[in-house]
Amino acid sequence: MTKTRCPDYHLETRLVHDGQERSSFGETSEALFLTQGFIYETAESAERRFLNEEPGYSYTRFSNPTVAMFEQRMASLEGAEAAAATATGMAAVTAAMVGQLQAGDHVVAARALFGSCRWAVEDLLPRFGVACTLVDGPDLGRWRAAVRPETKAFLLETPSNPSLEIIDIAGVADIAHAAGATLTVDNVFATPLWQKPLELGADCVVYSATKHIDGQGRCLGGVILGSAEFIETKVQQFLRMTGPTLSPFNAWVLLKGLETLSLRVERQTATAGFLADALHDHPKLERLTYPGRPDHPQAELIKRQMRGGSTMIALDVQGGKAGAFRFMNELRLIRISNNLGDAKSLVTHPATTTHQRFTPELRAEMGISDGLVRLSIGLEHGEDLLEDLNQALARV
Ligand SMILES: *Cc1c(COP(=O)(O)O)cnc(C)c1O
Repeated sequence: MTKTRCPDYHLETRLVHDGQERSSFGETSEALFLTQGFIYETAESAERRFLNEEPGYSYTRFSNPTVAMFEQRMASLEGAEAAAATATGMAAVTAAMVGQLQAGDHVVAARALFGSCRWAVEDLLPRFGVACTLVDGPDLGRWRAAVRPETKAFLLETPSNPSLEIIDIAGVADIAHAAGATLTVDNVFATPLWQKPLELGADCVVYSATKHIDGQGRCLGGVILGSAEFIETKVQQFLRMTGPTLSPFNAWVLLKGLETLSLRVERQTATAGFLADALHDHPKLERLTYPGRPDHPQAELIKRQMRGGSTMIALDVQGGKAGAFRFMNELRLIRISNNLGDAKSLVTHPATTTHQRFTPELRAEMGISDGLVRLSIGLEHGEDLLEDLNQALARV
C-alpha cells in the first residue's frame, strides 16, 4: 500500500486525495475492502498483531483500510489529529459522550439539540449515574451557572436544529476549560466547510456523515474528531469493544461524497442565500431565519465564527400547523422528508416529526413553533426552487 498525505494542499485538493492508500494494483479510485477479517502469514504474526507490535489489520470491527482512508480524509478536512468513524451520527455522539464519562460525572448541554442527541444526554446518561443540565445555549451565563465540581463534559450544536440559533463556541469552550471539562460540538448543520470548532477551542467534533458528507441520500455514517490522545484514550476502546462500526462499503460511499463536498455545499449555500433573500419579507411568512442574512439575530457572532452561511433555512409559516401543512403539501419539487444535506431539496415539520415527543412548552423553549418549517436546500436550480416555494406559499 502507498499512502497519500497532502496536508499542505488546499481543502478542495485534500478532499479528493488525502488519506488514499493505493494497493499494488495501482487503482485510481479508493479500493473497497469489503472484508470482515484479515489473514496472518504465521501464528507469530497474529500474536504480534494482537500485541500491537506489528502494524496491520486484524478485524473490521477494530479497523479496515477503506474506513481508515475515510478517517484520514476527515481528519485532514477538519484539521484534527485523529478521527474515528462510526455507523451513524448518533453512534458518534453517543460514543463521544459515553467514552469520556462515568457514574458520578455531570454534563452540561444546550437544550436546542437534535432530538436523539437530547435523548442521549437527558434520558440515557442519567440511567448510568451521569447527571445532565440543559441550558439556553446562546446565553453564556447559563453555561457558567450550570457548572458543578463534577462537571466533565459540555455538548452543543450550532447552528441548532431546526431553529438555526447560534452558540458562541469559543465562549463556551473557555467556560468548559475553566471548569476542567471538555467541549464536544455537533457540527452537522455548519458542515466542515463553514465552521471549524477545534480552531475555536472545542476538544471534540462529531458529524452525522449521513448528511452533507454523503450528501446524496445513500448511506448512514458518523465520525468523531479530536486530538490523538482524546480519540485513543476516550473513544477508540469504546468503539472497538461495543461495535458501532462503519461498514467499509459505507466508508467507500462517503469517500466519494467527500470528493464533491465543497462543490455541493458551496452551491447549496449560495442557493439557500438566494432563496432567503428572495423570501425574507414574504407576506405569508411570520419569519425567515437564515444564518447568512444580516437580519439574523446573531449576525455578529456568525461573522466571527462561521466562514459561510448554511444550506438550511427556517421558515415560520402563517397559520400555525395548518398553514405549515398546507404549504408542505402544495410543494411539488421540494419533497417532505426528515433528512437534510441531500442533493434533493427537502422540507420537514419539526413539531410533528423530529421534535414530536416534546411538550409544546419545551418546543417553544427550543424555538420550534407549530408553523416552523425546516428547509434543506439541494442542488436544483435556485429559480426552480423559488417558483415552487412561491406557488406553495400563495396557497397558504
Ligand atoms: C442527523 C443528525 C444526527 C444523527 O445522525 P444519524 O446519522 O441520523 O444517526 C445528529 N446530529 C445532528 C445535528 C443531525 O442532523
